[in-house]
Amino acid sequence: MISKKMENMVANSSAIRAMFEEGNRLAKIYGPENVFDFSLGNPNVPAPAAVKKAIIELLDGEDPVVLHGYTNSNAGYEDVRQAVAESLNSRFGTAFAAKNITMTVGAAGGLNVILKALLNPGDEVIVFAPYFGEYRSYVSNYDGVIVEISPNTVDFQPKLDEFEAKITPKTRAVIVNTPNNPTGVVYSEDTIRKMAAVMEKKQKEFGTDIYLISDEPYRELAYDGVEVPYLTKYYDNTVVGYSYSKSLSLPGERIGYLVIPDEAADSENLISAANVATRILGFVNAPTLQQKVVKACLNEKTDISFYDRNREALYNGLKELGFECIKPEGAFYLFVKSPVADEKQFCAAAKKYNILIVPGSSFGCPGYVRIAYCVAYETIVNSLPKFAELAKEYK
Ligand code: PLP
Repeated sequence: MISKKMENMVANSSAIRAMFEEGNRLAKIYGPENVFDFSLGNPNVPAPAAVKKAIIELLDGEDPVVLHGYTNSNAGYEDVRQAVAESLNSRFGTAFAAKNITMTVGAAGGLNVILKALLNPGDEVIVFAPYFGEYRSYVSNYDGVIVEISPNTVDFQPKLDEFEAKITPKTRAVIVNTPNNPTGVVYSEDTIRKMAAVMEKKQKEFGTDIYLISDEPYRELAYDGVEVPYLTKYYDNTVVGYSYSKSLSLPGERIGYLVIPDEAADSENLISAANVATRILGFVNAPTLQQKVVKACLNEKTDISFYDRNREALYNGLKELGFECIKPEGAFYLFVKSPVADEKQFCAAAKKYNILIVPGSSFGCPGYVRIAYCVAYETIVNSLPKFAELAKEYK
C-alpha cells in the first residue's frame, strides 16, 4: 500500500502530463503532423551550440573523476557559484557572492529545497492564480498549506487587496512567477513595489518574516524589450529560484540555482539549511557536469526569435477567429478564455480536432485554457484551420 499522502497526489497527478501522453498516443494513430500538441512546456528550440562545445571541451579537458564526482559542497562548485554571482551582479547591479548561490536540480529542485528549509507543518504559502500547479505538491511535500489569491482576469496582474487580506501570522512564503506560466504576463515594477509594501507592512504587524520566492525559469523569455524586474532589489526577504531549462533549452539536464541574499532574514542559517536540504532530499548536489556547462555558457544570449514568431502567429490567428486572450509578454504560453464556462468541455471539443490544450483549472483558473507554443512553427500554422473549425462550434 502506498502512503495516504501519495494516494492523493497520484489521484491528482498532473493533467498536463496525461495530456502529453495522449498526444503521443494520437500521433501514433494519425501521424505526428496531424496532431497539434500544445500541452507541455518542453522547449523545442535546440540548446545553443555553445552548450555542445562546452560539454565536448569539458569531457576532453577535465579530470573525469572531478567532472563526474560529487561536488565537495552540496551547494555546488565554488567557481561556478562565484561566476553565477558575478554574472547577476553585472546584469542587475546586485552584490551577491558565491555563498549566496546554491546550485539546484532545476527550478523544481530549487523550490523544494527552499520550501524544505522554510516550512513548518501548517505554515501558509501564498500563490497567485493562475499559477504552476506543481506548487501544490511542492508545498504539500513539507506539510505546508497553499493559500490561493483569486485571478484578476482583466490583466492577470496579482490582486493586491485580496493578497493583503489573506496574509496571516502563519504566512511563511509567497511564490511569484514572472514571466508567468500560464499567462505569459510579466508583473510590472509598480505591482512589485506595491506587493513589497504590503509584505513589509504585514511583517511589521505580525512580527514575522515573510519570504518572497521568485520562481523565474522564464526570465530570459521576454518579448518586445519588456523588462522583468529583479525582485531582490524591491524586498529584502526575497529568494530567487532560477533554471536553465528554458533559457538554454536544457530541461532534461536538471540545472538551476537559488539566490539567498545576505539581506534575507536569517540568511546564514537559510543558506546552510538549503545546503543540507539539497543533500537530504536526495539531490546530493546539482549535476556536476551541467554546473560546469552553465558556467561556460553564462554569457549566452537566449534566442527568443523562434518563440516570438510563434507567439505572433498564434495570438493573431486566434484573435482573428474571435478567441479572447491577452498578448503574452514573456514565457511561451497563451492563456485563452474558453468560450464556455466549463473549459474542460472546451478542451474535450478541441481534442476532436487533435488539438491538445490544458484546462485552466490545473492552474487554479477555471474558464481558461493554456496553449504552450513552444512547438514547430508549422504546427501553429497547420493548427489554425482546425482552431477555425473548433471556433465554428461555438458561434
Ligand atoms: N516553475 C515554473 C513556473 C515552470 O513552468 C516550470 C516548468 O515548466 C518549473 C518551475 C520547473 O522547471 P525546471 O525544469 O527548472 O525544474
